Amino acid sequence: MVGKKSGSVDTLLIEKRIISPPQSFRENARINSRKQYEEMWRKSIENPDEFWGEMAEEHIDWFKKWEAVEEYSFQDDVFVRYYRGAKLNASYNCLDRHLRSWRRNKAALIWQGEPLEESRTFTYLQLYREVCKFANVLKGLGVKKGDRVSVYMPMIPELAIAILSCARIGAIHSVVFGGFSAEALRDRLLDSKANVLVTANYGMRAGKLIPSKTNVDLALAGCPDVKNCIVVKRVEKDCNMVEGRDQYWDDLMSSASPFCEAEVMDAEDPLFILYTSGSTGKPKGVLHTTGGYMVYAATTFKYVFDYRDEDVYWCTADIGWVTGHSYIVYGPLAAGATSLMFEGVPHYPEPDRYWEVVEKYRVSILYTAPTALRSMIKSGDHWPLGRDLSSLRLLGSVGEPINPEAWMWYHYVIGREKAPIVDTWWQTETGGILITPLPGCISTKPGSATLPFFGVNPKVIRQDGSEAGVNEGGYLVITKPWPGIMRGVYGDPERFKNTYFVQYPGVYFTGDGARRDEDGYIWLMGRVDDVINVSGHRLSTAEVESALAAHPKVAEAAVVGYPHDIKGEGIYAYITLKDSVELTEELRYELTMHVRQEIGPIASPDVIHFTSAMPKTRSGKILRRILRKIASGDIDQLGDTTTLADRAVINDLLNTVN
Ligand code: ATP
Ligand code: MG
Repeated sequence: MVGKKSGSVDTLLIEKRIISPPQSFRENARINSRKQYEEMWRKSIENPDEFWGEMAEEHIDWFKKWEAVEEYSFQDDVFVRYYRGAKLNASYNCLDRHLRSWRRNKAALIWQGEPLEESRTFTYLQLYREVCKFANVLKGLGVKKGDRVSVYMPMIPELAIAILSCARIGAIHSVVFGGFSAEALRDRLLDSKANVLVTANYGMRAGKLIPSKTNVDLALAGCPDVKNCIVVKRVEKDCNMVEGRDQYWDDLMSSASPFCEAEVMDAEDPLFILYTSGSTGKPKGVLHTTGGYMVYAATTFKYVFDYRDEDVYWCTADIGWVTGHSYIVYGPLAAGATSLMFEGVPHYPEPDRYWEVVEKYRVSILYTAPTALRSMIKSGDHWPLGRDLSSLRLLGSVGEPINPEAWMWYHYVIGREKAPIVDTWWQTETGGILITPLPGCISTKPGSATLPFFGVNPKVIRQDGSEAGVNEGGYLVITKPWPGIMRGVYGDPERFKNTYFVQYPGVYFTGDGARRDEDGYIWLMGRVDDVINVSGHRLSTAEVESALAAHPKVAEAAVVGYPHDIKGEGIYAYITLKDSVELTEELRYELTMHVRQEIGPIASPDVIHFTSAMPKTRSGKILRRILRKIASGDIDQLGDTTTLADRAVINDLLNTVN
């Protein structure tokens, strides 16, 4: 029920369902008792040097070992350092490390193109050769350790090859989503001060060709420092090539040597820059370094996905998002896994495309986002039910809070009750997963990311900094670093400190709201910026949305506050309906009553706005800051819209304003 403590967020939605790991899964899991998890977690917090020293020995090959493991300050002069003085190379760990064993002939990357008939497989040895070749191409263009190389590409193998090649020679890669506009690309090229760009002539999306190179030309008109542009021919079709600047990938690769010594990198040398999704404002250029990031990516990959050599692992994210960096490329390849890379989208050519891929490759671990799940729920269950999904043994979710109904659908319709679900909470800034169940030992509750990963000590605090009580919503902070934490905002040291360490000195401020329940489970409640203040009650958008999405006719809900004369803020709900549902006036009433019943009258929406689609980032997150502007009638200043996946959605929304 609604509480009224000042500065905390009211908890309205209490989910009671608990699902234990299936016996068959638990028996073979890497960690299969809560006690074992707790012992390891305690050690990771009480003795981080020993814990992260052991993980580093086990998961990574080092050219030189460290003098100290963990050193940091979260106060005043904020800094974080792991593995002082140690030397390694990230690409070496993803490739060379496996060439000594039978894994050299194991599939490292399986690529499925958008066209059904297009696919390619690279063994570790083959991938190694391609990476060495492209590393030599980059060297030939004068790229050196520390230089920034920007990558703007569709989801094709050359994207993975390009970033591993950068890592091989110590260049810092900055991947920009292949679907971004010229403007978004230009901003990121300028911000990262890149002087080489790797791209493709075209991209493919839902059967249509996207003129990537045309965007590139527009962007590069404003980036005089980009001296070289390398173009992969995704399709046999000509594109504009600028003499002296642009060269085709194949032409450069044909004469490149397949041997390239891996550059010896310091543990704290930068590995990449990656921009956040821009859900809450201007994207931040997050900088990650080599040693801690690699240890963290490899360790989380192994334990969270309970990874085995025989798994076929598929993360559906785009590599332009941090999930693709850590869990398509670096984590899985460091672990010697078979990582599937997919160019297509969930609904093309039919709404069962994901399930067709799972069936074709016998995927055993699937890691996807709530946005994809909700879009598939919208299309109807007959699509997944028509496919053989029996190979799936573990399911993952990332990117947004997963509403309990979508969770249950994932559990029944996709996992068929035998695959545990790991709802993984993390951020671009965190480098890897921070809060997640370990699938063999933690009972799950639909909608909760459950418990911290090793080395992670989260706390939920009130506005005044005191610790929130059980089920009391507050701000999620992390009290100490973990190896994968970002080391800075590229080119803006003050922004790093001011964004994450100033509000509450001494802890890392995540910007997300959360509560901890009576079992210590963490429930994410949406962004701190998105809390709605209705007549003095501070409500979490995620909870109101979950209540709306639990209605059988609703596919997706997004809730924001807007100025309200009496209540201070009113609740404005954007709703998309399932495909089979007809929109009627009664439905508005029905949904309002439904929310009243589920979580109480305080949360019932003042406005319901039916829309065919939500404005989303390329990583599939709903852009509530834009919805908030539309709800308040503030439509002239929508803020940074360059991170939108599809700008047409905005016009649709404006045309249907209530
Ligand atoms: P910006 O920081 O530019 O506003 P962003 O926060 O959306 O963009 P990302 O780093 O891609 O950029 O996303 C991290 C955020 O995604 C988290 O802070 C959280 O709000 C949300 N998130 C990710 N995974 C989960 C999850 N499992 N449950 C709830 N929220 C999640
Ligand atoms: Mg963020």
